[in-house]
Parts: sequence; structure tokens; C-alpha cells
Amino acid sequence: MASNRKLLVLPGDGIGVEVMRQVHRVVDWFDKRRTVSFDVKEGLVGGAAIDKHGWPIDDATMDVAMNSDATLFGAVGGPKWDGLPFEKKPERGLLRLRKDMDLFANLRPALVFDALADASSLKRELVSGLDILILRELTGGVYFGEPRGVSTLPDGQKKAVDTQVYTTSEIQRIARVAFELARKRGNKVHSVEKSNVMHTGVLWREVVTATHKAEFADVKLEHMLADNCNMQLVRNPKQFDVIVTDNLFGDMLSDCAAMLTGSLGMLPSASLGAPDATGRRKALYEPVHGSAPDIAGKDMANPMATLLSFAMMLRYSFDLPADADLVEQAAKNVLAKGIRTRDIAMPGETPVSTTQMGDALLAELDKLAA
Ligand code: NAD
Repeated sequence: MASNRKLLVLPGDGIGVEVMRQVHRVVDWFDKRRTVSFDVKEGLVGGAAIDKHGWPIDDATMDVAMNSDATLFGAVGGPKWDGLPFEKKPERGLLRLRKDMDLFANLRPALVFDALADASSLKRELVSGLDILILRELTGGVYFGEPRGVSTLPDGQKKAVDTQVYTTSEIQRIARVAFELARKRGNKVHSVEKSNVMHTGVLWREVVTATHKAEFADVKLEHMLADNCNMQLVRNPKQFDVIVTDNLFGDMLSDCAAMLTGSLGMLPSASLGAPDATGRRKALYEPVHGSAPDIAGKDMANPMATLLSFAMMLRYSFDLPADADLVEQAAKNVLAKGIRTRDIAMPGETPVSTTQMGDALLAELDKLAA
């Protein structure tokens, strides 16, 4: 069936290839059962691309990514390529995708499935039913600001400098994404900075407040200092819906929130660019985990993070919320039945394989769609 939903799949290396196989099965399922079809292209990235082309991603694949509605990425890297120079490392493929597509908005949901609430480092009652979204500014701030570097002072000491920089438009565009996402969820945004000690924090708060007043007054907005947010995430995480913050604080807070959910194999993510004239945003969806060389090739990896990334793609790139809900509900049902890969299995439970987890998800999709 012809489709205008252009999807590029980049499995990458290690378990990236294995988990992506399960996504293809779900794409086929949608094609057959839901008449939702995708024009799917597949490409090489990371070590697999280095082996074939000598580079972690080639220009032809970049062109396809730039012209796709969404790119679904597995994972890259592995011991085979560890010794390569920095510019040729597998991870450079991912960095090029993020940079060339100008993906400034990184979405990291922290969703606790009831069946896995005991895997969290917090008590069940604090995390059961948790569904928060950390929105991190990804292309600005202290990781990119100039001046930066290490110099030697006249007295022989060294001096290292990093610079935190944000402009009005950089803050405005991430704030807009936060408010738009909140409207599709719990309608509440916490904007997080350090306006008590940082000039960028003062500007951040001013711009978010003005953007809210001018365009999103229907969404509830609260401001919170980053250190307090960190504490609140482990004290009472369910108070949050969408948290929007800068690159550095987002890096810290999203990892903290991730741990509330218990397992790396369950964490999806999305990175979005600016909307074009038609409103379409470039978008990259990927699990948070890496290529897991320790279990690669053994059919042991948990495919849920990648399947949930696919669900995010349905929601945010293709505006198919009912279909995204369907995949997420199928994942919940699978877990509720105690079907688990090794990383999330409880003591005494027999883990299933990657393929069996895919089988179980498809069976649940069948039931839900019946
Ligand atoms: P990793 O995420 O690959 O693995 C960490 C641990 O978690 C391992 O024990 C692994 O077996 C387990 N794990 C990860 N995902 C899992 C899943 N889906 N199911 C079951 N268990 C899972 O991180 P690492 O070991 O630090 O890195 C391995 C390689 O991946 C390195 O080459 C690293 O550079 C690369 N990496 C790539 C990305 C990416 O492509 N986005 C991210 C992180 C690391």
C-alpha cells in the first residue's frame, strides 16, 4: 500500500539489530491489521556502516534521514570499534544525525508499568502509575557554549572554562515544545533552572513566562530550581507531568527519572527538530540503552524500549495517538502477565527471549484489536 509516512530504520550494532527486528514485526502488523502503513527504508549506522563504508554514517543515508518523517535508531558501538579515532567512532553516526537534523528537543518519558513498580529504587506507592516526561534542550547550553577549553596560566596552573549560553529564541522554541506536549498529556509544565544564581536561569524563567502568557495560558506552569527538582523527583515524582529544562540539568534529571522506572531495557526517547513550513518536525526515536555487547547475538535483549520508541513515533511524528496507546497497552498487558526478558525478570521467574517478547506483544495487539 502506498504511504506518505516515510520512516528510516537504522538498527545499528549489537542488540540494536535484534530489538529492531521486533519493531519490523509490529510495522508489518500495522500494515496488515490496521491499514496504517509506512514507507520503510533501512540503512546502516555505527560499526555496521564503518565496516561497509569506512564511516559511521554515509551521505546517502543522511539524505534519506533528512527526507524522512521519522528515523528509528537502535544502538551503536562495540569492542570491535573501540580503538578507532574519535572522528570515526560508531557514536559519531548518532551525533551527526542529531546535529544535521538540528534536534534541539530531547524527550525522555519515565513511565512506570504497574507490573514493574517493584523494580524501581523507590517504594511502590511513590512510583506506581508514574508517567512523566523530561524535556531537555539538546543543542545549546554549557556543552556547546564558547569560550571553552583548557589553557595554562602564567604561573603554570591550568584553567578550564565551559560557558553556559542561551538566547531568547533557543529558550522560546523548547518552551513551545513543552507546552504543546503538555496539552497532549496532563496539561502541566514545570520549568526548571537556577535563576537564583545563574543569568541564563533568569533569562530562561523570563522567556518561559512570557511564552506561556502569550501563547499557552491554558497550560498550568510552575517554576522550580534545579536542585529542588532533583529532590522532588525522588520525594514525590507523581507531582510532575512535563519538566522542561536546559541541556546540563536535563542530562542529570532525565537519568535520575530513568532510575525511577527500574530498567534500562524499558526506556524510550525521542529527539525533535524545529517545524518546517508544513509543521513537520525532523525526528529521531531511539531506546536509551546502548548496543549491550555482553548479550548481543543471544536473543536475550529486552525489545520494549525500542517498541515504546516506536509508539512515541506514532504519537509525535504521525499523530496516531490511538495506535500509540495500542502499542503501550499491549506492552503493559505483556508485563502484567509476568512475561519478562532477563533484565526485568524477578527472582525465580524464567526469562523469555527477545523473539518471545515480540511474540507476546503481537498476541496482545491481536487481542486488543479484535
Ligand atoms: P549498554 O546500555 O549497552 O549496556 C549496559 C548494561 O545494560 C549491559 O549489561 C546490558 O546487557 C544491559 N542492557 C542494555 N540494554 C538492554 C536491553 N535492551 N535488554 C537487556 N539488557 C540490556 O551500555 P554500555 O555497556 O555502557 O555500552 C555498550 C556499547 O554501547 C558501547 O560501545 C557504548 O559506546 C554504546 N552505547 C551506545 C548508545 C547508543 O547507541 N545510543 C548508548 C549508550 C552506549
